[in-house]
Amino acid sequence: MFQKNQTDLRKDICEIGRRVWQRGYVAYNDGNISIRLDQNHVLATPTGVSKGFLSPDMLCVVDLEGRQIDGHLKVSSEILMHLTMYRERCDIGAVVHVHPPYCTAFAVAGEALDQPTLPEFVVALGKVPLAPYGAPSTPELGETVLPYVKDHDVFLLANHGALALGSDVYEAYHRMETLEQSSMIMFLARMLGRQNVIPSADLGHLESMRERMGLTFPRDCLTFPPGSSSPVRRQTEVDEAQIEAVVRRVAERLIQEMGREGGN
Ligand SMILES: [Zn+2]
Repeated sequence: MFQKNQTDLRKDICEIGRRVWQRGYVAYNDGNISIRLDQNHVLATPTGVSKGFLSPDMLCVVDLEGRQIDGHLKVSSEILMHLTMYRERCDIGAVVHVHPPYCTAFAVAGEALDQPTLPEFVVALGKVPLAPYGAPSTPELGETVLPYVKDHDVFLLANHGALALGSDVYEAYHRMETLEQSSMIMFLARMLGRQNVIPSADLGHLESMRERMGLTFPRDCLTFPPGSSSPVRRQTEVDEAQIEAVVRRVAERLIQEMGREGGN
């Protein structure tokens, strides 16, 4: 299986840093991104640098205990939360932590995102739990996520932001994009005065799509096959055509129901 070398993984972190900054998921020096290099080492962003202006030489290497092995800048203090994720989930190859405004607003309001409102959200993320508040830069922050980490890939952090896990950094980032886009839509729907959910009759189909894509839990922890020191990267691309078909069916059903309501 093709594995990227560390030079390319460093470029990937810089690219994702640019995307989260450009999309307004972080302000100033907020946020942190990491990639698992091997069974005991993680490549991570440094503290005190805008994610929009990272260069590959700024990144740090730490071991799973948090000892910095490489890098002239100090690693992000929130790396402790990332390391907790890598220790708990051997299927995880990357972690993205940012503060996107819409999903963070739900985290500040104290709301988990567990309503089936959008097919993409249900298939890609399932339900997103709200981890209780933990002080930034302390081991406590990672511990608040522990009760949820085996059953979810994406988490809201109360009064703080969001955390996404992935088999690689693009998957983790795309989950964060889906979370923020869906949060914005849910917020706007509420502003319009109503947040409908997908009819329960349609949820089984979305759940089976999630299952076919290997997104349900528990997952196989086949991250380090015998003789390999690199994590296996799973393919979990969401099938856009299937999602579109479900969106059409749900929309048709809602229109039919609204027609019936209007006729009464
Ligand atoms: Zn943070």
